[in-house]
Amino acid sequence: MSTTADGLGTTPSMGTPDEVARAEARTAHNYHPLPVVVAHAEGAWMTDIEGRRYLDLLAGYSALNFGHSHPRLIGAAKAQLDQLTLTSRAFIHDKFADFCAGLGDLCGKELVLPMNTGAEAVETAIKVSRKWGYDVKGVGADRARIVVAAGNFHGRTTTIVGFSDDPDARDGFGPFAPGFDTVPYGDAVALEAAITPDTVAVLVEPIQGEGGVLIPPAGYLRAVREICTRNNVLFVADEIQAGLGRTGRTFACDHEEVVPDLYVLGKALGGGIVPVSAVVGNKDVLGVLKPGQHGSTFGGNPLACAVGSEVVAMLATGEFQTRGAELELVLRERLEALIGKGVVATRVRGLWAGVDIDPALGTGREVCEGLMARGVLAKDTHGSTIRLAPPLVISADDLNWGLDQLAAVLA
Ligand SMILES: *Cc1c(COP(=O)(O)O)cnc(C)c1O
Repeated sequence: MSTTADGLGTTPSMGTPDEVARAEARTAHNYHPLPVVVAHAEGAWMTDIEGRRYLDLLAGYSALNFGHSHPRLIGAAKAQLDQLTLTSRAFIHDKFADFCAGLGDLCGKELVLPMNTGAEAVETAIKVSRKWGYDVKGVGADRARIVVAAGNFHGRTTTIVGFSDDPDARDGFGPFAPGFDTVPYGDAVALEAAITPDTVAVLVEPIQGEGGVLIPPAGYLRAVREICTRNNVLFVADEIQAGLGRTGRTFACDHEEVVPDLYVLGKALGGGIVPVSAVVGNKDVLGVLKPGQHGSTFGGNPLACAVGSEVVAMLATGEFQTRGAELELVLRERLEALIGKGVVATRVRGLWAGVDIDPALGTGREVCEGLMARGVLAKDTHGSTIRLAPPLVISADDLNWGLDQLAAVLA
């Protein structure tokens, strides 16, 4: 038995190494987690089964933008659990209309199509784009093409990994669905050159998260918008990781005052409680779907809508976006001070950073292990990059403390 750090009680445990071994023994090894076993979390802090506390600088890849156990979100979920949890979309439930209206308003769009995971929302956007291409644009049957960016991450389904260029994500999972054209990320000229009369959509992340928080050159998103409009092609923005406050604005596209035809949302939309994703757009696009043409047993369920509506209400105040923008200054200043001291380069937007570690010092994984030993949890990506995405509720003091630990690990 071990006591949790917050004194909330005791947790039966055989100890961390034993729990790690038990997990490894009975799960497919599709992840390589850090050897920490978390039992409790609140705000920006997690507590493991031994009572050790860790500052969470990953926030569930942005799924925990509002931190762990935010009282408003937990309250909404608990209240809904006592009322109604699932109806299927065969019936309408009393939390559905409010969620769709609220999220639509947040996006400035007419219609919302709720799903569960991010990959499902991306799949939905692909289906909607193709249907729009055939029904509205007049593309010949089965000829629709979608332009995507090199280095993308849009999820793990067979269709989606088929247009990934990450060998780990892709190799061994073919054959893949045709109809995708890859262009370099951030290159608007290459993007326009790839558009043909059969192109129905451009699907891009406004910032490539898994890619290492890669921010495209200024003006890129604006150019994508103009190119799509000029060529009668849908601009589909995958804001699953970048959106909902992460970058200091509601959407990463807001930084260039750009509005895509379809927003693809997920992660933080579920408040860190349940998977909630959505595709959001206007009637002229999302209106192409008719009954029976798309669906999901769990998509838009009452619990998801109750939590999702609370997320939307919290974002509608703008306070979380403001916080992200304010703390960006801390994050930027501290990380830039580390350049030449173990950091080769850093990219910061809002409370989100890619930190390229000097390979001479070790891998990103090794730095994350060093951080863990100092009570900070973060995640490496693509070898030598560490991604920092603290919960938007983190205090400036805690953020500074976490960055002190990074400096110490790199020293
Ligand atoms: C995480 C992510 C996805 C996939 O979301 P899942 O919920 O894991 O399926 C898609 N696109 C982007 C940009 C993501 O970061």
